[in-house]
Amino acid sequence: MEQVDVAVIGGGQSGLAAAHTLRAQGLQPVVLEASEQAAGSWPHYYDSLTLFSPARYSSLPGLPFGGDPDRYPHRDEVVAYLLRCADRLDADIRTRTRVREVRLEGGAFTLGLEGGGQLAARAVIAATGTFGHPHQPDLPGLDTYTGTLLHAADYRAPEPFDGQRVVVVGAGNSAVQIAAELSGRTRVTLSARHPVRFARQRILSRDLHWWLARTGLDTLPVGRFLSTPPAQLVIDDGRYRAAVTAGRPDRRPLFTGIDGTKVTWADGSTEEVDAIVLATGYRPDLGYLATLGALDATGHPRRREGMSLTHPGLAYVGLEWQRSLSSNSLRGVGRDAARVARRLAAHLSHA
Ligand SMILES: Cc1cc2nc3c(=O)[nH]c(=O)nc-3n(C[C@H](O)[C@H](O)[C@H](O)COP(=O)(O)OP(=O)(O)OC[C@H]3O[C@@H](n4cnc5c(N)ncnc54)[C@H](O)[C@@H]3O)c2cc1C
Repeated sequence: MEQVDVAVIGGGQSGLAAAHTLRAQGLQPVVLEASEQAAGSWPHYYDSLTLFSPARYSSLPGLPFGGDPDRYPHRDEVVAYLLRCADRLDADIRTRTRVREVRLEGGAFTLGLEGGGQLAARAVIAATGTFGHPHQPDLPGLDTYTGTLLHAADYRAPEPFDGQRVVVVGAGNSAVQIAAELSGRTRVTLSARHPVRFARQRILSRDLHWWLARTGLDTLPVGRFLSTPPAQLVIDDGRYRAAVTAGRPDRRPLFTGIDGTKVTWADGSTEEVDAIVLATGYRPDLGYLATLGALDATGHPRRREGMSLTHPGLAYVGLEWQRSLSSNSLRGVGRDAARVARRLAAHLSHA
């Protein structure tokens, strides 16, 4: 069986940052990426998506984003940027390689690959993000809904919903952005248990990310003290608040029931709804670690910051609040990756 130093599972921004920082530690990572290119989930995000951080706050270690540092790059620019990062990386990146399972055999990790291949690794970094594991919460009557039901992960563009009555469930960035985009063409309600909370994109003529960096809030290592991530603030240049205030989309508390395509609202009124879009977040996509015993009952990794508490030599990069607010962002993942790479290098030098 082929033996490698460190197997990095996932070839998105987290996997690329991990590989870059492992190389800086003198290790030889092999990046295993299920899809045909090393750009993570970015090619699958909705068509109109632009970054909420300006280009100057959107780089991985080793390669500045480039271009006007104050612009908010479009999704496709991020894809192109990540492919450039992958090209420049001095590491073995294997696309179309999905890891099905990780086992421990004779003190080393054995990775079972889709198609039957195997790989032995002295250390493993799980960097598979969350997009492959959309979260569908228990919502009143949703299991009886017979209209079109999709998660935001499967939403691309508003056109297929033209003329339909649509409910978007959620109160975070994706929920508000998708609902506002749809409401340009059709009747949309934004429905959630919690109110939408906005954060201003620009404060005193500086971008929010300048303030997060300047105050240290971006890197404050509070992740380990949070049992659940705090509610997401919707980053807004004023457009989304104005749209919600104008009732496009209109905002309502969560529906109280569903029967077929009929939705019952909290005030007792009912109406037919053609489509429900669940912008209800994601969970870590780590099913391949389940048999190893590295996850808790909810599928979250047992870890402190990026290091596994169950298996020395196993680490994570890109988890939400892994260490700080910026852990699962383009601007922050490199910092966490560098810490994890240092610790894995120390572990391997003693192993
Ligand atoms: C709609 C949306 C908008 C966002 N906007 C921003 C933003 O503006 N700025 C920002 O900084 N962040 C943003 N984020 C957050 C974050 O930066 C992205 O989610 C980012 O894609 C996470 O990168 P990742 O590498 O951790 O995971 P992903 O990009 O999901 O990459 C994981 C990779 O792992 C691969 N994989 C999965 N399972 C396996 C397996 N078993 N074997 C091998 N490969 C596997 C997948 O194919 C994928 O390529 C946004 C997220 C979403 C969902």
